[in-house]
Amino acid sequence: MTSSGTARGADITAAAQISELAAEAARARVTFGEGALVACDRLVRIYRAEGIEVQALQGLDLLIGAGELTAIVGASGSGKSTLMNILAGLDTPTAGSVRVAGHDLAVMSARERLGYRRKVVGFVWQQTSRNLLPYLTARQNVIMPMRLSGVGLRQRGRRADELLGVLGVTDCADRRPDQMSGGEQQRAAIATALANQPNLLLADEPTGELDSATAVDVFGAFQTANAELGVTVLVVTHDPAVSSQVRRTIAIADGRTSTETLRHSSAADDGSMTQHAVEYAVLDRAGRLQLPLDMIEPLGMRDRVRLEAEPDHIGVWPDVQRPAEPEGEQG
Ligand code: ADP
Ligand code: MG
Repeated sequence: MTSSGTARGADITAAAQISELAAEAARARVTFGEGALVACDRLVRIYRAEGIEVQALQGLDLLIGAGELTAIVGASGSGKSTLMNILAGLDTPTAGSVRVAGHDLAVMSARERLGYRRKVVGFVWQQTSRNLLPYLTARQNVIMPMRLSGVGLRQRGRRADELLGVLGVTDCADRRPDQMSGGEQQRAAIATALANQPNLLLADEPTGELDSATAVDVFGAFQTANAELGVTVLVVTHDPAVSSQVRRTIAIADGRTSTETLRHSSAADDGSMTQHAVEYAVLDRAGRLQLPLDMIEPLGMRDRVRLEAEPDHIGVWPDVQRPAEPEGEQG
């Protein structure tokens, strides 16, 4: 009896351990990206063309909270547009998962995809001509997406006027795109993208065709949309003047998120405001870390580095024999 009791006890302990492990695994699955508006988990996109394979995204992790305004920067070819096209529901990942506002973009049906593109995301592209229908006025352009999703006549007129007002292009309401400046066209494009009250506004180099003063001005329109309408905004930009104006800048390198810069302002003793920018490396769930080239190159770091755990940080040294401490000097 004792022995069978012990065996049963062991069974119960093992079962309890297994269910505890299972619960932990389930928690880990739920925890990643829980509560985030955008959650990309090890996103992979491989293009195959004429026998050549391009890995545009190589396991990209990204979390964006609702209400954030985030800039994405990175060299040409680093995978920024590939990511935006996936988030826009125009392309699907080869592997990995991507969720936006509770929609699993990797497994959406064609019908869900259409609804997603109409209601959940809005986008603004670099080419001004891709954003607005040339034969419609700004007001008619803003109204069009609402017509397609069945918003009533009065309501869509009211919302179009409100959006053109918030974006500072009320004057352009009755003008066609060819009667507007590049900056005005992009502001009207933002209004159009926001017509159906999307959760997420995506913009792929929206100021790329504009001169720098106009670019800053149009970027101000994204900030206004974020602050006044509460829409979450994700903007790809090349322009350092633009990325210096946002709180969070994410750098993409070789198809992965590599570093993040967070800016915040604080009041100095004399009451003046100063800006602080802190650069972070992204640490993935396997513990992988990408060190910025401008930090590792001057130190000649390559292939492997030496690590030392300190109580409050980890030291990283180049893999070279450090000069031996001179002996006997202390004694
Ligand atoms: P970015 O927007 O950062 O400049 P992209 O996402 O456009 O970068 O491209 C990432 C990589 O994927 C590049 O090497 C690019 O040549 C390749 N690529 C993008 N689109 C395609 C495609 N449709 N077919 C094949 N390769 C592509
Ligand atoms: Mg691009």
